[in-house]
Amino acid sequence: MATRVLGRTYFFVSSIVLLLGAACGGPQATQSTPSPVAPAAATARRVPPGTTFVYYDIVGTTDGELKAQLSALGPISQTDGRRHAANTAATYRWNWPGYGSAACSLGASRVAVETQITMPRWTPPPEASRSLIEKWNRFVEATDLHELGHAAIAEANVSTITQAIASATCATADAAATAALSRIQDLHVQYDRDTDNGVKQGAFFR
Ligand SMILES: [Zn+2]
Repeated sequence: MATRVLGRTYFFVSSIVLLLGAACGGPQATQSTPSPVAPAAATARRVPPGTTFVYYDIVGTTDGELKAQLSALGPISQTDGRRHAANTAATYRWNWPGYGSAACSLGASRVAVETQITMPRWTPPPEASRSLIEKWNRFVEATDLHELGHAAIAEANVSTITQAIASATCATADAAATAALSRIQDLHVQYDRDTDNGVKQGAFFR
C-alpha cells in the first residue's frame, strides 16, 4: 500500500537563555472525540521506533561562546519561527484501502509516524574547563529527555489519528486525520507548558 504524506506537525523545545516564556504559546486544547493520549512522564530514556537524531555542531571554549553558538545555530521552530536549542518534528502518514474513492475501508487504515530530533553537539576542546563540560553534559542529557517526551507523545497518538479516520467517512477521513493533528499539537504545547519548555527537567543552558 502506497504511503502518502498528508500531514505534518512540528514541535520543539526551548531550552536556552533567550527563548523562555512566550515560545510555546498557543490555544488551549479543545477536547473532542477521540481524545488525544497524554503519556506518563518518562522516567528512563526510551527512543520510540521511527525516531532519528540529527545534530548541529557547536564550537567554543567558554560558557559565553557556547550560549552564543546555541542562539545563532539552534534549529528554527516551524511553530514560532524562533531558534531553539533543540527541536522535535513528527511526520504522520496515513493511508487505507480505497483511498480517494467512495469504496474505502477506513477500519483497515495504516498510520505511521516518523520523528526527528535535532540536538546540539559540542566536542570540548582541550582547554575547556571541567565545570563547563559537566554543565554542558547535564544540559544535553536533560534536553534529550525532554525531546524524547515529545517523541513519546508523537508515538502514543498514532492511535488518535487511527481512531479519527475510523470514525469518519470516505469523504471526510482525510480532514478528520488532519484535524487530529492539531489536537496532538495541543498536547505538545501543554507538555511544554507543564515542563516550562524543559526547564523543570533541567534542559537549560544559562
Ligand atoms: Zn518541548
